[in-house]
Amino acid sequence: MSNDPLLSIRDLRTYFHTDDGTVKAVDGVSFDIDRGETVCIVGESGSGKSVTSESITQLIPMPPGEIAGGEVIFDGTDVTTLSDDELRDLRGGRIGHVFQNPQGALNPVYTVGYQIREAIDAHQDLTKRESRQKAVSLLESVGIPEAGNRVDDYPHEFSGGMKQRVVIAIALACEPDLLIADEPTTALDVTIEAQILELFRDLQAAFDTSIIFITHDLGVVAEVADRVVVMYAGKVMETGTAEQIFENPAHPYTRALLECLPGQSGGLEPIPGSLPSPINPPSGCRFHPRCEYAREACRIGEQPPVYGFDGDDDDTGDSDGDGDHRVSCIHYEGGDDELPDTGEFSEIGQEPGTGLHTGGGE
Ligand code: SF4
Repeated sequence: MSNDPLLSIRDLRTYFHTDDGTVKAVDGVSFDIDRGETVCIVGESGSGKSVTSESITQLIPMPPGEIAGGEVIFDGTDVTTLSDDELRDLRGGRIGHVFQNPQGALNPVYTVGYQIREAIDAHQDLTKRESRQKAVSLLESVGIPEAGNRVDDYPHEFSGGMKQRVVIAIALACEPDLLIADEPTTALDVTIEAQILELFRDLQAAFDTSIIFITHDLGVVAEVADRVVVMYAGKVMETGTAEQIFENPAHPYTRALLECLPGQSGGLEPIPGSLPSPINPPSGCRFHPRCEYAREACRIGEQPPVYGFDGDDDDTGDSDGDGDHRVSCIHYEGGDDELPDTGEFSEIGQEPGTGLHTGGGE
């Protein structure tokens, strides 16, 4: 098996052309996903995380959407160059999707077994009997009790959590190499959410599937992530292993998100200010109007490049030496590994705003 990443996104730009101007929803995003790895993309609603995931298989409506630049290399092939037929084969084949609302993902007039078999039959040449057996076995693998009987039930006969399990079974029907799950637990209550997160962990162990998990909730990230991509206003602010992000966060935005978690010293304090306009984002660092560490240089030019972060002072470029911990903040230019005291550059300060919006979807 190749050691190359399963998915490599380079300088991805996804724009939407509207009457008010061009929305740069994803603006120069780069990250990799290894085989068998779970990568969480986290950020406030409107940060561009869902559009990033939808751009991978070009699920965005075009027009008004456009992949304006960059590459999405999936197992050696640039997905942005594929024909519509090739993209259809990829979706529901080697790349499966699980969306936020299981109700909307299931057709109420067909049995769940029919809908799973539809996904199987679109990509595999099985007899009707084999296809049904596989549907039952998929329902078993996602934890549906008495799957042999439930396979002939309709979606309305399942609870919300069980419906999401069915949607996951459909996504797994073709044994995808990559599963993209966009806020898959947001519509579920906390107990069911915990069960579904456990299911994702179990399925990954069983199938060795790579998973992209989109969420606004760092509590969910802590449960499932191997690696984390923190997005803000269409840009990547920080990437690192889950351990690096939670134990040694570098970017002021990541730190602010963590302080919103229950039990932290900030105690559910929202981040002051709100996301900038995606049509006219601020110059310089897009986070500067809300950043307590901002200085004059943060307002000028483009978003800072990503720098290796050496939180352990071990001369390796990041805190565990694997080169994975990277941060887009001028304070880390030149190998610095600490933020200055807050208030040092207080001439900018924070603009009042609506606070952190933690709703799902974008
Ligand atoms: Fe804050 Fe400046 Fe760093 Fe942006 S570059 S996160 S504004 S300190």
